[in-house]
Parts: sequence; C-alpha cells; structure tokens
Amino acid sequence: MRLLLATHNPGKIREMRALLSDLDIEVMSLDEIKDVPCVLEDGKTFMENALKKARAISKATGMMTLADDSGLEVDALNKAPGVYSARYSGENATDASNNERLLADLEGVSQEKRTARFRSVVVVYHPSGQWIATEGRCEGRITMAPVGDQGFGYDPVFYLPGLHRTMAQLSQEEKNRLSHRGKALAKLKIELVPFLQKVLEKEGGRDET
Ligand code: IMP
Repeated sequence: MRLLLATHNPGKIREMRALLSDLDIEVMSLDEIKDVPCVLEDGKTFMENALKKARAISKATGMMTLADDSGLEVDALNKAPGVYSARYSGENATDASNNERLLADLEGVSQEKRTARFRSVVVVYHPSGQWIATEGRCEGRITMAPVGDQGFGYDPVFYLPGLHRTMAQLSQEEKNRLSHRGKALAKLKIELVPFLQKVLEKEGGRDET
C-alpha cells in the first residue's frame, strides 16, 4: 500500500516520514510525482484546506493521499496568522521574513499576553472518495527574538514553557512527540487501520455488483 504526502515542504516531509515510519506503508512525497496540480489554499479553516488539498491530489494521481494544513494562532493578534501562516509577510515570504513580521506585530505586547498555538489538521483521502481527518494542537508563547536553529517556519519564535526551550531547540524526536503535527498523526495512525479495512470492504463490495 502506498501513501502520497501532499507537500513539497522539506521540513514537513522529514517530520511526517519519521512519524509514519513504523507503518507497513510505502510513503512517497510530491517531489517523486510528475504533473501534480497546484492546489490553491483558499479555505477559511485548516480543515477546508487540508481536505481540498488531499482530495485534489488524490483525484489527480489516483493515490491515497495525506495532506496537512497547519499554522500558528496568536491570541494577541486575534488568531492571526492562522491559515495565512505560510504567506504572512507576503507572496515571497520566507521563514525569516514571517518571523520578523510576527515579532514586529507583537512589539510592545508583554510575555504573558504572547500566548499562541500551532494547529495541524491531517486528512487521508482515498481515491474511492472516503476520507478521515484528525487534529493536533501545541500550546506555547511567542518569544521576543528568534532562538534555536532546528525545525522550520515559526519554530525559533515558539517557546514551550514546560520545556524552557523554543521548538527550534528541540531534536526532531522531541518535536515529533509534542508537536501539533505529531499529535494529529498519532491520532490518525490509530484511525488508519479501521479506515483502510472499511475502504477495502467497500471496494470488495463494489467489485461484486
Ligand atoms: P501550510 O503548508 O499551508 O500548512 O503552511 C503552514 C505554515 O505554518 C508553514 O509554512 C509554517 O510557516 C507554519 N508551520 C506549520 N507547522 C509548523 C511547525 O511545525 N513549525 C513551524 N512553523 C510551522
């Protein structure tokens, strides 16, 4: 059985491969597939975007597809950047420019009021049209300046009070244990086997008719 990861983001691919490595499934990424359509992430929620991405890529490739839509919600910014996390500082945004804009937008906001969370919604879509979704969250606080050089995206400005470190100071194993994506994928893995059984039963049923 094969599962296509609907992302080009090397940080996400690395994390997802590690998290799915104990499943008896061949995991591929979009970089290994030709002529995949570009999916516009114009949904208002992580769920809408993840489902749209997973469905479109699965329909185009005929493969069972896993898509994640994730981002950062900052309470003092009314839950921005949210679904706009990747492009927060404009169309040509980089991780560094997004972090710069975030810190500038939070200038003058005290440490206690810099509460934030990462959210990740993960969808697995089977070409038969059946799908499942799970969500994971990770609570933390936005720092006053970037710290650490691991991970990607907003990791250097996301502080975990329980660990006294930013997400960018964690090893990949540590991050996967507590991150939003790690939690969403852990839940997904529990639901995946019954989901696949259901899919196979339906497909078997369909062949007989
Ligand atoms: P997506 O590809 O639309 O899901 O964009 C998610 C964006 O949210 C990424 O480009 C990052 O800026 C941010 N993001 C999501 N997950 C993480 C994470 O684990 N660490 C840091 N930033 C993240």
